[in-house]
Amino acid sequence: MFNDKILRCKDCGRDFEFTASEQEFNAQKGFTNEPGRCPECRATKKAQTTQIISDSILERFDWDRVSTKTVGLYENYVRKKTKLYKT
Ligand SMILES: [Zn+2]
Repeated sequence: MFNDKILRCKDCGRDFEFTASEQEFNAQKGFTNEPGRCPECRATKKAQTTQIISDSILERFDWDRVSTKTVGLYENYVRKKTKLYKT
């Protein structure tokens, strides 16, 4: 059985709750690591990562040749790839 836990966020230093149901959910997915960031910082980090990816894509494309559809497909591809890496 799992019990609610209080963890400290490594980004903002605030304490946050890692609930029993979250722990169970993680365990079911095979994750053994405890979260290092509070939900707010996780959301911020995720938004930043998405922003970085989008910017790098925008720089890389030759806009005279590439259609917006192609860019969309590529963006999805990169997003899937980055999900494999834990932050
Ligand atoms: Zn935090």
